[in-house]
Amino acid sequence: MNPFPLRPALPRLVWLLALALLCTGVHAAPKNIIILFADGAAPTQWELGRYASRVLRNQPFVVTDRVFRDGSLGLLSTHPAGVYVTDSAAGASAMATGFKARNGAVSVTPDGGRPRTVMEAAKQAGKRIGLVTTAQIYDASPAAFSVHADTRDEAQSIVDQYLALEPDVLLGGGRDFFLPQAAGGKRNDGKDMLAAFAAKGYAILRDPQQLREAKAAKLVGLFSEKELELEIDRDPAREPTLADMTRAAFQALTRDTGSGSDRGFVLFAENENTDEAGHKNDIAALIRALWAFDDAVAVALEFQKDNPDTLLIVAADHETGGLSATYARSELSGASSLVIVGPKEFERVMRIDASLDAVAAKLGPRPSPALLEALVARHFPGFTLDADLREAILQQRPLERNFGYTTQTNLARMIARQTGFYWGSSGHTTEPVAVGAMGPGAERFRGYADNAEFGKRLLQLIEGR
Ligand SMILES: [Zn+2]
Repeated sequence: MNPFPLRPALPRLVWLLALALLCTGVHAAPKNIIILFADGAAPTQWELGRYASRVLRNQPFVVTDRVFRDGSLGLLSTHPAGVYVTDSAAGASAMATGFKARNGAVSVTPDGGRPRTVMEAAKQAGKRIGLVTTAQIYDASPAAFSVHADTRDEAQSIVDQYLALEPDVLLGGGRDFFLPQAAGGKRNDGKDMLAAFAAKGYAILRDPQQLREAKAAKLVGLFSEKELELEIDRDPAREPTLADMTRAAFQALTRDTGSGSDRGFVLFAENENTDEAGHKNDIAALIRALWAFDDAVAVALEFQKDNPDTLLIVAADHETGGLSATYARSELSGASSLVIVGPKEFERVMRIDASLDAVAAKLGPRPSPALLEALVARHFPGFTLDADLREAILQQRPLERNFGYTTQTNLARMIARQTGFYWGSSGHTTEPVAVGAMGPGAERFRGYADNAEFGKRLLQLIEGR
């Protein structure tokens, strides 16, 4: 006779419940977290990427058509401590620590506190960490996600802190603050930080070929003295894409380090070109930058398919440029027709073959009328420069008080008048940013929240709370 007739039944029930919980992933913490970050991209930019992708290349835009559609979608307010309009340092600081910072501060609070960052927490949790960007690797966003500085200009200190933190992967631009002045760099302490990283076992990479062939588990790849080129100007022999760098980061971060433990990784991969193009009001460069970012998101989704214990997050810090595709009169006075952005206007914009930055660099600080005319004819087929904008460029007169980069934004106004792609500023705006998340923990990012709340939720996931 069985003295415990109920005994086998109860544990079985408990087992089944536990199994069901595991399968549905209710309490599952992600092993890997990928944060794909498009600086300066709000829903306005995502919608531009999506529509342009559909009408110009007849292909889905992964950010909207996969991540936002199938994942958890949220919106974040972006104001920093003290004012309404944020910069990238304050935005990333809130998202990386859960605490608001003032503009310019890198994960330092207004009272001087240095709350732990996402990458510090990840390191503490035994995870491997990686930073990838098209900007300088010490630029505000990757810096704020990992280390601390009173101002974003402290490049040398930020690089020093990277060496101490030892991210497993550093890929992007900004070789200047890794080398001493004697070797053509900008460091004032005579240190060769590339040699210092190499001494810690890092492979040092300088071009796309070396990136493709890299076999090490720890990488420092710096492909430019300063930031990488906008996608529209990029030389593929000299600089990799964000997708190339993201792929290389996955390979390095999943390599067996021989440590015997594998707690996964946290990767921050940023496209800064989306912000850069916004500041210059450069619609042709922005569309290509958005597509380049989207390619990196596709690489990350592919990784997630093979590694379902991975949380994938698409996020941003703020909107840049006050982009406003609209309809407008073709002429200011008289009987004028209406210019409305449509497929034809997108096609016109795609015939522009250089960034506004590249054209402004060719033109120089004291533009000559003949060179200006030649450059407009060469790089902007079908566009004509109105007399007022021509004079403004020749005299280097800004459009308005909220527009810098005089040559670029006046050329951008030429494009706007003939296509409808108007811009409201050459700075940041307050449009809330979207967060799309897929994988374990994704549901925490649903709804309308503050950017500091995003940081708190991310830290909770990393710390297993
Ligand atoms: Zn910016």
